Amino acid sequence: MNFEYAAAPESRSVVKIDPVYGHFINGKWVPGSAHFNTINPATEEVLSSISLGSAADVDAAVKAARNAFDKSWSKLSGRERGKYLFRIARIMQERAREFAVLETLDNGKPIRESRDVDVPLSAAHFFYHAGWADKLEYAGVDITTAPHGVVGQIIPWNFPLLMLAWKIAPALATGNTVVLKPAETTSLTALLFAQVCQQAGLPDGVVNIVTGDGSTGSAIVNHPGIDKIAFTGSTEVGKLIARAVAPTNKSLTLELGGKGANIVFGDAAIDETVEGIVNGIFFNQGHVCCAGSRLILQESVADEVLEKLKRRMDKIRVGDPLDKNTDLGAINSAEQLAKIRELTAAGEAEGAGRWSANCTLPENGFWFAPTIFTGVTQAHRIAREEIFGPVLSVLTFRTPAEAIEKANNTPFGLSAGIWSEKGSNILWASQQLRAGVIWANTFNKFDPASPFGGYKESGWGREGGRHGLSAYLKGSAK
Ligand code: NDP
Repeated sequence: MNFEYAAAPESRSVVKIDPVYGHFINGKWVPGSAHFNTINPATEEVLSSISLGSAADVDAAVKAARNAFDKSWSKLSGRERGKYLFRIARIMQERAREFAVLETLDNGKPIRESRDVDVPLSAAHFFYHAGWADKLEYAGVDITTAPHGVVGQIIPWNFPLLMLAWKIAPALATGNTVVLKPAETTSLTALLFAQVCQQAGLPDGVVNIVTGDGSTGSAIVNHPGIDKIAFTGSTEVGKLIARAVAPTNKSLTLELGGKGANIVFGDAAIDETVEGIVNGIFFNQGHVCCAGSRLILQESVADEVLEKLKRRMDKIRVGDPLDKNTDLGAINSAEQLAKIRELTAAGEAEGAGRWSANCTLPENGFWFAPTIFTGVTQAHRIAREEIFGPVLSVLTFRTPAEAIEKANNTPFGLSAGIWSEKGSNILWASQQLRAGVIWANTFNKFDPASPFGGYKESGWGREGGRHGLSAYLKGSAK
């Protein structure tokens, strides 16, 4: 028997969205000279008009950040800085529902995820780094604990508030001031965060938020007054930034794309593994840099896993992101949907077998049914390129060595998963895999104390933990 769930929509009345937003510079709201709309990707409703940051706006923000660094923030003890971070973390918790609803409206992700993952983890990053602010000399960081100064930070749209927290919390804990640009399609929670900075009484200019598009990001990257750039986004833009920063004295960390391998050995606990595969690729609509987007199955269990996976995928509830029952929300933008469609069409054209879950997609907004491709080979684009959507490419292997060979056969190296009941198998495989984060018998688990980052084209440097702290100091982790 199948039970249907009654709709359980979260109320959006907790959220107040202004019709127009300016930039947050030097603790004040500064009107922009040009604007663009931000929409709800689940309905295409216009939510607000966002300012398009110019080079002059970026310059004003950098000057404010420099002034704050010189006159207030660098003069404070770590203990005092920590108090501000604790205050920000507590206010984020108090306003958690507001943040979660706003994130879901602007991004399209299910409220269950923004409420249970994005917002609590964001607050956790501020709590974690608040604790470090007065203990940096004990963090095992080499040479000096001096901050860089002014940090330019550019973030993507898939975890807007969480990526902001990953960037701002360690920067402030280590004594830097920041100019941050959120992604064009998801600025609203960063602008709400600016209100939290005001509420926390953070000194003016310590956090500056300039909204805009790639040209605004580029103005930050190329501004001579910035000491360090921290970027999360695509490998393509990361390479542009690396080139721009190379001839300067700026420090740089890059968190880029991925094509994570999720390896299932023949001895894995199949039912748990199927849940892990679903979490690995369908969490956040697959808009996850470390998603387990390549499933690498041992041939002996491939048929059983695929049959159970399809049965499970037919139960994924796709629809209104504000409904608390929803598992899979909207694709973040028309552009991203077009990219997913283009790559999945290439998968079919190149001969892989396509299967999509049986679900009804809403008429308005941007949607894509959970999909798997079987019979995928290394030569297929869907095995090599990041789709960044709810699409899983399935490959098979006979020997463990073949599994590792396939898993590592990618220009990326961000994440990987191993499913096996045998500890020795897990330890052996994890030592062979060239990936920054490796999960065993689980997937997509995050913690502020754990460093995160990639090998090869997945980036440089680590975020989180004491490794992440060191990236914001003029030294390196011991
Ligand atoms: P993009 O690289 O297109 O954009 C990232 C950010 O950079 C956005 O704020 C964007 O602005 C800005 N930007 C665009 N062009 C430039 C430029 N020339 N100079 C400076 N800034 C620029 O990535 P997406 O937003 O499309 O995000 C998806 C990608 O991010 C995926 O590849 C994913 O794997 C990766 N990612 C990596 C993570 C990690 O930790 N390794 C985590 C999350 C995502 P605008 O929004 O206006 O385009």
